[in-house]
Amino acid sequence: MVCAGRLYNSLNMPGGGGAGTQGLLIVISGPSGVGKDTVLRRLFELAPHLEYSVSYTTRPPRPDEIDGRSYTFVTEPEFLSLIAQREFLEWARVYDHYYGTSRRRVEEALRRGDDIILKIDVQGAGFVRRRKPDALSIFITPPSTEELLSRLTGRNTESAQALELRQREALVELGLAKEYEHVVCNRDVDQCAREILELIGQEHVRRGAEV
Ligand code: 5GP
Repeated sequence: MVCAGRLYNSLNMPGGGGAGTQGLLIVISGPSGVGKDTVLRRLFELAPHLEYSVSYTTRPPRPDEIDGRSYTFVTEPEFLSLIAQREFLEWARVYDHYYGTSRRRVEEALRRGDDIILKIDVQGAGFVRRRKPDALSIFITPPSTEELLSRLTGRNTESAQALELRQREALVELGLAKEYEHVVCNRDVDQCAREILELIGQEHVRRGAEV
């Protein structure tokens, strides 16, 4: 697969709920190793007013991750209890661990009029699109499949078995890019973050014109 630039999928264009002062719900996905975290870090530097939806996960923290900022790290029984309490807008089991988006955090941000970014996998994104059809969905692709696989191998944060699983899943996820409204290529982190920012700006203009 080669980076395809932007792709506008008219079937998935938001119906335009006349958002008014409501913030934008922005769903960002991309295969493991595509550089989502780096792109998002740059995006938040460029646009500090954007909110990040801190997910819950049962995955153990990586050395550089901070509880409550990267994720809220919970045990499996805690996660299952949060499902029972209907805390999640969506949740999924990804690579043997649970991940879930806090419905409360997202709804509070939207009510305040803040734009909030969800960095979630393709299953979760599908669920959010069905539940919140006016969400803006963006998929990040690598410049090429070869580069993605080599980035995953070089990352060295996973066991050999976990790495193989992530490589397999990454290829499946790449095939789902067409389900998103927009596809941006991470050839250059700064440029990719700026393209995302531009898409967010365009969406505000579009919604503003509909009100
Ligand atoms: P990682 O373990 O590398 O941080 O994340 C693994 C995958 O889980 C990534 O594709 C990431 O986007 C996804 N993910 C993170 N948080 C959530 C969430 O709340 N819900 C879903 N469905 N996926 C998530």
